[in-house]
Amino acid sequence: MSQGLSHIVLRATTPEDFERTKQFYTAFGFEQILDQEDRTAVSTSERRVWLKLSAASNSLTSELTIKLALSPSAMRQEQLPDEIDWALKEYSVVLNTSDLTNIKTKLETIGAPYQTKPSKIYALDPLHNVVVFSDKPVIQSLLGQEHLRNDDNVPDSIKEVSQAVKRSRKIGVLTSGGDAPGMNAAVRGVVRYGISKGCEVYGIYEGYQGLVDGGKCIRKMDWKSVRGFLGVGGTSIGTARCMPFKTREGRLQAAENLVKRGIDSLIVCGGDGSLTGADVFRSEWGGLVDELKSLERITEEEADTYKHLTIVGLVGSIDNDMSSTDITIGAVTSLHRICESVDSINTTAMSHSRAFVIEVMGRHCGWLALMAGIATGADFVFIPERPPPEDDWETVLCNVAQRHRQMGKRITVVIVAEGAIDKSLNPIKAEHVKDILADRLHLDTRVTTLGHTQRGGSPAAFDRILATIQSVEAVEAVLRSTPDTPSPLIGMSCNKVTSGPLMKAVELTHEVAKAISEKNFARAMELRDPQFAEEFEAYNASTILDDMSRRLPEHQRMTIAILHVGAPAGGMNAATRTAVRCALNRGHRPLVVYNGFPGLVRGSIEELSWISVDGWTSYGGSELGTNRDVPGIHVDMGMVAYQVQRHNIQGLMLVGGFEAYTALTKLEEAREKYPSLCIPVCHIPATVSNNVPGTDYSLGSDTSLNAIVESCDAIVQSARSSRRRVFVVEVQGGKSGYLAVEAGLATGANTIYIPEEGISLSRLQADVHHLMNLYLDDDPDKSEGRIILRTEGVSDTYTNDVISNILKDEGHQLFDSRTAVLGHIQQGGTPSPMDRIRATRLAMRAIEFIELHSLETLDKAKAEGRDVPVEITKSSDSIAVVGISGVDVTYRSVKELKPVTDMKNRKPRGAWWYEHRPLVDLLSGRGLFTSQAQNVLHKH
Ligand code: ADP
Repeated sequence: MSQGLSHIVLRATTPEDFERTKQFYTAFGFEQILDQEDRTAVSTSERRVWLKLSAASNSLTSELTIKLALSPSAMRQEQLPDEIDWALKEYSVVLNTSDLTNIKTKLETIGAPYQTKPSKIYALDPLHNVVVFSDKPVIQSLLGQEHLRNDDNVPDSIKEVSQAVKRSRKIGVLTSGGDAPGMNAAVRGVVRYGISKGCEVYGIYEGYQGLVDGGKCIRKMDWKSVRGFLGVGGTSIGTARCMPFKTREGRLQAAENLVKRGIDSLIVCGGDGSLTGADVFRSEWGGLVDELKSLERITEEEADTYKHLTIVGLVGSIDNDMSSTDITIGAVTSLHRICESVDSINTTAMSHSRAFVIEVMGRHCGWLALMAGIATGADFVFIPERPPPEDDWETVLCNVAQRHRQMGKRITVVIVAEGAIDKSLNPIKAEHVKDILADRLHLDTRVTTLGHTQRGGSPAAFDRILATIQSVEAVEAVLRSTPDTPSPLIGMSCNKVTSGPLMKAVELTHEVAKAISEKNFARAMELRDPQFAEEFEAYNASTILDDMSRRLPEHQRMTIAILHVGAPAGGMNAATRTAVRCALNRGHRPLVVYNGFPGLVRGSIEELSWISVDGWTSYGGSELGTNRDVPGIHVDMGMVAYQVQRHNIQGLMLVGGFEAYTALTKLEEAREKYPSLCIPVCHIPATVSNNVPGTDYSLGSDTSLNAIVESCDAIVQSARSSRRRVFVVEVQGGKSGYLAVEAGLATGANTIYIPEEGISLSRLQADVHHLMNLYLDDDPDKSEGRIILRTEGVSDTYTNDVISNILKDEGHQLFDSRTAVLGHIQQGGTPSPMDRIRATRLAMRAIEFIELHSLETLDKAKAEGRDVPVEITKSSDSIAVVGISGVDVTYRSVKELKPVTDMKNRKPRGAWWYEHRPLVDLLSGRGLFTSQAQNVLHKH
């Protein structure tokens, strides 16, 4: 609507459009008024008309005046395509209605295009302006004014709706228990998404203590209260351990504070203690309200109004110790901190040939210890859920450490979870481990307790995204809840946000500790997320030097070659390391090929040993050297087949991006011609663009997101210090918007330009308006940096420079603009822990894949007393992408993937991350503003 303006101006370029637009608005009850000036102008080409809508006329309840002018020189807007979400576009007109069905019928009668959304219809007028019809009060503005004014012109029915809506949507958000990085992103998400849904959101400072204390601890949040929250670790609204909340008296006080503020929903972000508290609070709520009423601390009416309390839980915990969710907010960032520390310890340990025992957090949960062990290639880990099965674990530890030393390792690293135990439940303490290594192996051993560094620092991209998408679901859960629904816990399962019963999750979590105390370790492992056991297995298979127990019978051992294809990506070396070690542990002969397929053709092949890949988990780039050339296109396929046969390669593992996938398809086609290519071939996706079909994530994409997020944080900080500036940042991705969408969410980008949507002038214009609105709303004395991300392949016309120049000119001095091209920075230096862990898991499964598809031929050859044939398998399943699907590792054959691959644009058809796209614009405030920018434009 037209805040700050007495009317809206619409310009038609042809008389036909002018007439059609007039008819469109009159169909909805606008009445034509001609003033003296217009009467004289009516016959000229400069025709214009005033259209006025009075409150309660027709089924619309808004008041608005439109000036419609015929100006042939005006620019005609293009019609918005139906595939895109019109809700993301700048609205021209917003109209309140009590009857959306009637509006829909009318739009159909007059043939106007429209999209329906809950409580809203987005229609296009004949000039292609977006007209919003809404049966809910339109989103509150950033300025704190409401569109639905409480004046006498508003009919009672609407006032009632408005009050009911308000009453059921006052959400309190608090962070409680131990702080976790990403809690701030969760609070930001709840505040902004809540406001965008018409709710009032209150920040409850200092956790439950703030709830009990009330007063200034409960503060109404607006859009700007959470600005800059994404990048800040810990929790900016505070957390505290609160004993009073554990008592009924404390909770009674908390209930009174909520009722007095009219807050009827609570989103709690914390660990299992906090969520247990939340559930206790909700289960007692009815009794608390009755007691408050009988004590006359609240009125009867208040008691009646706030009969029910909605509680939704978000898990903020660095330990990843909550059941019913694969991952908790903060755990991944904590893992980042641990890996950074262990990486730096590795270098000093290496220099002095020392041993280090590192204690990490985790009282009942070994997730951090195990993942850190995998990601850093530690020699041994001790976790609570799976104690060493041997009574004399000390000797086992020494044997492993000694074997590693004998292979040439100069360092020994043991990671011990805080709650590590032996099979008789005796604690395994870092100091004790140190003594063993020092006394028995005479290693110069030190203990490092990482302590609170593990909680600190800016959240990793993963946690920012996780917290954001979960907070959106938390608000949705509030809006969905009824007095009968049990309190939900927002979790993650198979890469999807879930909402399940909170109490059940808390119970299962407590069951882990119980299972451990009963020495039921199998149950304890089972209660962890499904990847946990597999990752434990991958760790043992790749890190612990084998005692021959994993070795295959002689005739099943093979020669397996590994090569890197395409651009470097974080995790390529980690995957190679695990593949080499798993292969060796099974008795295979691992070969590596230098410089991709051209290297293969030249015969640049070497056999690697266990020690030669030591330390590779933390190396960025590609140790083997990677090359974009694909066989059958750039490299002769006949030569590839020749070298495969010459080196007796019986299984091939490609690590790379879309080029590697293309190579896979070419190798499949060439099988008809070359028997030596009839061997199992697998592809581990590794590319920053995450555009390989057959996987949710490719290696390197997480490292890249973190690199982008870090750079963008630095860019915004620079602007905030000196300028009102919009940075147009170019990110990689080819024709895939993955990096822009996910980094957009993680950095709080203002908007993104991605190949899936393209760029147009009208889009740019809308974005300029939006930016102007944001800068108009800022404190005039404060600088503010904003980010727009643009995927490199989005448009040849709208380059970074062009967009930046347009923004600068059209920004009318409210802000200026600069470009930033992150380029190869996006490949990242050190691979992120997530990429290292994914690499380890995928590589282990890749070796299993090769074994799976060769076993039959190898067994048959042995049974028949023949040599192993050159042609091992021709099955179409034996040439596949080894990818991640939800929590599972999947083998998806080229045959299966072909129909779902867009070869021209080099990406899979359909992508899970695209559903995050609308959130980027929504959380940057799109749709909250009205016509302030228009106002400025009119003045110029
Ligand atoms: P975390 O949430 O990280 O597990 P705590 O166990 O310390 O952390 O719990 C945080 C807060 O939650 C406590 O200080 C207390 O206020 C509240 N709380 C925990 N358990 C309960 C309970 N059983 N009943 C009521 N409140 C509880």
